[in-house]
Amino acid sequence: MKGKVWLVGAGPGDMGLMTLKGREVLSQADVVVYDALVSGGVLGLIPEGAKLVFAGKRSGNHFLRQEETNKVLLEEALAGKRVVRLKGGDPFVFGRGGEELELLVEHGVPFEIVPGVTSAFAVPAYNGIPVTHRDFCSSVHIITGHRRADHSYDIDFDALVRTKGTLVFLMGIAALPDLMNGLLAAGMDPEMPAAVLERGTTSKQRRVSATVGTLERVCSERVIQTPAIIVVGKVCGLADTFGWAEKRPLAGVRALVTRPKELVSTLANLLREKGAEVLELPAICTVPVNDMADVDAAIERLSKGGYDWLVFTSPSGVSIFFDRLIALHDLRALNGVKLAAIGQGTQKALLKYGLRADFLPSVYDGETLGRELRSVCVPGSRVLIPRAAIGNHELIEELEKGEGFEITDVATYDTEYATSDVIDERGEIERGDIDFAVFTSASTVRGFAAAVPDVDYSRVNAVCIGKQTAAEARKRGMRTWVAEKATLEALVKAVEEAARETMGNQE
Ligand code: SAH
Repeated sequence: MKGKVWLVGAGPGDMGLMTLKGREVLSQADVVVYDALVSGGVLGLIPEGAKLVFAGKRSGNHFLRQEETNKVLLEEALAGKRVVRLKGGDPFVFGRGGEELELLVEHGVPFEIVPGVTSAFAVPAYNGIPVTHRDFCSSVHIITGHRRADHSYDIDFDALVRTKGTLVFLMGIAALPDLMNGLLAAGMDPEMPAAVLERGTTSKQRRVSATVGTLERVCSERVIQTPAIIVVGKVCGLADTFGWAEKRPLAGVRALVTRPKELVSTLANLLREKGAEVLELPAICTVPVNDMADVDAAIERLSKGGYDWLVFTSPSGVSIFFDRLIALHDLRALNGVKLAAIGQGTQKALLKYGLRADFLPSVYDGETLGRELRSVCVPGSRVLIPRAAIGNHELIEELEKGEGFEITDVATYDTEYATSDVIDERGEIERGDIDFAVFTSASTVRGFAAAVPDVDYSRVNAVCIGKQTAAEARKRGMRTWVAEKATLEALVKAVEEAARETMGNQE
């Protein structure tokens, strides 16, 4: 059986700029061959279990030679695999997309091209630079500043100057002096606005504005981070008026979110809406405990009216408990028991079964749940708590203060820790590239620590959903911020506050 190859543009960085088709194809991939320019956000979309091949291609740092990459694509496709060749920006804009197809065509391997959003247009857009504007120019040109070893530039500077269009140079940073001199020698006005746009559409994007005459000097005074493009043209002058990305509340923030695998990334999306770049680590997943005997016994007793209260401390607890209950009985086994949920997420999970919690605490944490529930339970209440094998103590300690309470704390699920194959969490932290790690539970902190052991956690700024989560983070030496309420919205607010404090972001 022959497989197939999809040449997919990953866009310039912001994962939201990957096309729907690209995402769809990626979600079905057996093998993903990706470049250094593909952003962490997009890499996070690679399905679990897909084979990963890094074809790192940043100049000077070739991991796979072009011919080797071509061969990998061919071999995997011939083995019947669905192969996604993921490339930064658009695969046909200075992406050697054409070269990678030749061998496939030779062997009759089917392929498709999924175009991407090219950095040549998206990076100016994220800097408030429209590449064309009727008042200033009538064309835009994309030029490579890269030249093959021992070759001179194949650029007709006279022609470029004559077009009066906007010029966008890719791969041009090393050649910046030559490019500007070439334009000046061809008669370009030295006062013509020009800009270097670094790491566009990511949280670390930066703009260096100057003119064709001064750009080289201005750039020599600072370290230019790559990837970067050079834009020449009057439209560069609009950046100050139209610049927008840096004005978002979470501009410049690169956040790490660890989330239970099975949950959709609402939190990541809320953060992205405010302008943050988010890396998602599938740090924890919950699985039913191996031995369900205790859970089964509790369900049996419940079905005979043996409990007054059934208490849930997480959405996973709800789904795993009810899956089992329905496998053994049906919902009538609840037998009129009263339900308590630690917070809204857990309440939502109950609603999926058509059940509403009789009790929610005023603050969504274990201690408050225990204390407040104690005051609504009558003396001698029998309380069943199906929850994580390593649940926190506060809830139980508070409940135990109740008069004659009988508490059954039954281990229902285990938390397993996963690591990412594509995201180098350790490197990200050690380089200081992560501004905030955002935690939604103490177990996500533990999951993170298990995934990234032995790093200097004092470098990690942790924004936490509640006190217990923060305590877990502090225990490891992280600097912490705590959300005012245990909701995702409040957590995002806490990230904004932390960004104002540490990065000087605007209100
Ligand atoms: N196919 C890609 C371009 C590959 S050539 C595309 O369509 O975008 C690599 C060059 O693209 C880099 O040297 C840099 O000039 C530019 N580039 C890619 N991503 C960029 C980004 N996020 N910010 C600035 N420049 C970028």
